[in-house]
Amino acid sequence: MKLINFLSISCGLLMGLPISQAGAQEFPTKPITMVVPFAAGGPTDVVGRKIGHLMERTLKQPIVIQNAGGAGGTIGTNLVNKAKADGYTILLHHIGMATAPALYRKLDFNPLTDFEYIGLVADVPMTLVAKQGLPANNFNELLSYIKVHQDKLTLANAGLGSASHLCGMVLMESIGVDLTTVPYKGTQPAMTDLLAGQVDIMCDQVSNTLPFIKDKKVKVYATSTPKRLKSLPEVPSATEIGLPKFNILVWHGIYAPKNTPPAMTAKIRGALQEALKTDEFQKDMDAFSITVSTPAEATEKGLKSILEADTARLGVLIRKAGQFAD
Ligand code: ASP
Repeated sequence: MKLINFLSISCGLLMGLPISQAGAQEFPTKPITMVVPFAAGGPTDVVGRKIGHLMERTLKQPIVIQNAGGAGGTIGTNLVNKAKADGYTILLHHIGMATAPALYRKLDFNPLTDFEYIGLVADVPMTLVAKQGLPANNFNELLSYIKVHQDKLTLANAGLGSASHLCGMVLMESIGVDLTTVPYKGTQPAMTDLLAGQVDIMCDQVSNTLPFIKDKKVKVYATSTPKRLKSLPEVPSATEIGLPKFNILVWHGIYAPKNTPPAMTAKIRGALQEALKTDEFQKDMDAFSITVSTPAEATEKGLKSILEADTARLGVLIRKAGQFAD
């Protein structure tokens, strides 16, 4: 046993505290792993790295990002579900926590009961983009093009349960088409293939698409928001293209394994709340038109209430679409 651990346990015992509580008081004493259940460089990774970096200031320990992509985020989530509840492993995941139960027949975790809920981080809008070589130059042209070529067109996503999957599903349902979907471990590798023209269309979060839209490396047709985004003033909103249901905000939250001691989750939550307040985070998110969560949302209640509401709301939509994975 390391001397420092031995000392902390001894002090805890001397002060009459349970060992876990004594450990919680000086937590953290080593780096914390934040699992991002998608590929590095993708939209959730962008949010995770920025918030993780700023939380380090309060926690005074490094936060190491572990990208564990695959199966729409369920692989990485499972890792955290099974991790030791000692405060040193946390999860940054998005709206996919609410869609997974309806999509996966076999899921090793229950998002509603099997975690500790630290708080919400940010709401990320989505954009509908296509490879530069696609002839359609606006949404109406895209619609006509899709209707004629739907057998050949491919729609990239980050797997069943990812935000890009949900967004694509809502789009296809709204316009009455059925495109072949191509799953990736995250939308970063999907974007690489879109840029190379290997896949045709993608619905993805602004935290990934914005630089490629600005550099005209991809074509953009709409945002998934009722109003235009400040960061993309030239791009029509979902309402303007006549698809008010194409309204998706990808909320992100932080979780810890079930039974992580409350003193530790409180420290992690405190660090989250401090990080959200910083000018740095506010400015970085604003550049993408990402909405930073309020102090009331960055709480256990804030995260649990949206998780519960969206599990019910989106579950209905998913069961109607009849898309499942084993
Ligand atoms: N958030 C995923 C990623 O970071 C993409 C998605 O959910 O569609 O790759």
